Amino acid sequence: MMNIAVIGSGTMGNGIAHVFAQYGFPVALIDISQPALDKALATIGKNIDRQVAKGALTEDDKTATLARLTTYTSLAEGVRAADLVVEAATENVDLKLNIFRELDAHAPAGAILASNTSSISITKIAAVTKRPEQVIGMHFMNPVPVMKLVEVIRGYATSDAVTQRVMDLSRELGKTPTEVNDYPGFVANRILMPMINEAIYSLYEGVAGVEEIDTVMKLGMAHPMGPLQLADFIGLDVCLAILRVLHEGLGNQKYAPCPLLVNMVTAGRLGVKSGEGFYSWGHGTKELVLAERFRK
Ligand code: NAD
Repeated sequence: MMNIAVIGSGTMGNGIAHVFAQYGFPVALIDISQPALDKALATIGKNIDRQVAKGALTEDDKTATLARLTTYTSLAEGVRAADLVVEAATENVDLKLNIFRELDAHAPAGAILASNTSSISITKIAAVTKRPEQVIGMHFMNPVPVMKLVEVIRGYATSDAVTQRVMDLSRELGKTPTEVNDYPGFVANRILMPMINEAIYSLYEGVAGVEEIDTVMKLGMAHPMGPLQLADFIGLDVCLAILRVLHEGLGNQKYAPCPLLVNMVTAGRLGVKSGEGFYSWGHGTKELVLAERFRK
């Protein structure tokens, strides 16, 4: 059984660690913050309880899954025995480049180094290591235990063997891996973010209101939620950052972020995490923000 190390125990890291441990892999979960590690273990426990309540797992599965998880605040110690490292730390280029330099120094020579980045170039990350053929994107979706897709991103130098290994491993986790090449936004965000941006432009230009736009896409296209609500969930700052990666990386004006999105992020209206975005989330449920707020 491959030894797995997961770097970063936030939203995505705890889900990735959960899934590997559930499918029998020993997992070293690493974060610079001990409180983040404690919170991650508590979250994994709660999420497994939900699976037990649904009858998908037993109490024994829960005990076994939790027993496969070990936490570390030292990256060097945590990756020492890893066959695969999945990096899910904060989305920041310099931070990730530093982590991969450290990984290259401390992970075993044969280890595959994967990143869960949403938008940073895998080729760029690979280039700071001495093993670019062993660096790959393994882009899980949120919430990881529920969502079936793993977008597997081949950097310019990623080998066929490493790609195959990661595709097979994703299937072992009950996921459906999909291979894509390393260009800005990969496939998921290259298609999703322009759709969200266009929804914001439709609001900005007064074509329709928040609820109307979301209703059209929900009922008309059978999306589980509308693009504006989805943007609130993802975080408007995250949407803006990814649009900027597309705009700069592809050099095409069609990816320019809508001025309303820029204004909302500047004003600190980031969606669910700040309590208000296109909807108000202050009372734990979705409430419409007054239409006047969205006038140009
Ligand atoms: P998050 O902020 O919830 O968690 C990031 C964690 O990384 C924090 O616990 C932080 O303490 C830790 N961290 C920061 N620097 C570190 C370091 N040097 N070493 C170890 N740990 C460190 O972030 P998230 O939403 O889980 O996102 C993580 C990655 O996953 C990002 O690259 C993001 O783009 C990607 N991603 C996020 C989503 C999503 O919906 N949230 C979906 C797909 C991919």
